[in-house]
Amino acid sequence: MTAAEGHEIVLTYDHVIACTGFQFDNSIFSPDIQPALRHFDKFPVMTGEWESENIKGLFFAGTIMQSCDYKKTMSGFIHGFRHNVKSLAELITARVQGTDYPTITTALSEPELRDTIIDRISTASGIFLQPGFMADVILLDGPQAGKTYQDMPVSWTKNAPFATGSFLQVTLEYGDFGGDSLHVKRQNNVFGKEPDAFIHPVIRLVTDGKIVDQIHMADHLDADWRPRNARNGDQGTVLQMTFADAGGAVDPADVARQQLEAFLRRVGLGQIEQSTAAE
Ligand SMILES: Cc1cc2nc3c(=O)[nH]c(=O)nc-3n(C[C@H](O)[C@H](O)[C@H](O)COP(=O)(O)OP(=O)(O)OC[C@H]3O[C@@H](n4cnc5c(N)ncnc54)[C@H](O)[C@@H]3O)c2cc1C
Repeated sequence: MTAAEGHEIVLTYDHVIACTGFQFDNSIFSPDIQPALRHFDKFPVMTGEWESENIKGLFFAGTIMQSCDYKKTMSGFIHGFRHNVKSLAELITARVQGTDYPTITTALSEPELRDTIIDRISTASGIFLQPGFMADVILLDGPQAGKTYQDMPVSWTKNAPFATGSFLQVTLEYGDFGGDSLHVKRQNNVFGKEPDAFIHPVIRLVTDGKIVDQIHMADHLDADWRPRNARNGDQGTVLQMTFADAGGAVDPADVARQQLEAFLRRVGLGQIEQSTAAE
């Protein structure tokens, strides 16, 4: 093999393994329950609940779950699919036992709603490690208002029991890194139009399956949008970041509060008093 310019290295090997790709081994299933395949026959075709689309009751767990977010997020790795597996176990339990998927209740009054969202985007590993693929969902309609699903696959929400109502969908997502990922320009605005490239919170209002409003909040180099006094002793490293429309370097936790308050007011969920920071 070649090395530095003008140099050559000769190596010896015991074995050479040619990693030329793989295909799903469907032979372990009887012909009548063989799942349909996709992605060059590497993975079964599956629903947002990781159930075979053609063989009902056949579920998939582990790295094979990456069929749903192929080459997009982290389901091919333990650090990603562990969150899928937890969700799958709850989905199957709910279906088999005829019970509800476990939920919590989020107060829709202010400032609890704002603080709950900021706490989750700062501490929840599922939505952090499965960016844009897993979401928290806060229902907004009728007697179910406030019912909250945590770490759910976004694709599942499209056919969920509440799909015809309104809900807030909370994710963390990357933006566009452009052609050179080593030279990425931050947007640097409190109320800018373009999403930051680095991971940042995205809050969407979804009604009848359609996104009717959304906000891409600013990134935070600690990925912790909580005020310092709410961090349980974890002070992080970033005190201030520059935001052009704020006139200089400010605490990004203040920016997060401002952005979220503005969004919640815009969608009719905010009764928060005017923020002290300049808008
Ligand atoms: C080099 C490398 C480094 C990695 N590093 C990381 C990392 O740092 N962090 C991370 O999160 N992930 C990492 N991963 C990915 C992670 O290891 C895999 O995603 C994970 O192990 C997959 O687990 P699994 O149980 O889905 O599948 P597997 O661990 O592949 O288990 C499948 C099992 O099924 C068995 N099997 C297959 N066919 C049959 C059959 N016909 N009958 C009976 N048994 C069968 C296999 O022998 C195997 O034991 C790495 C992977 C590799 C290869």
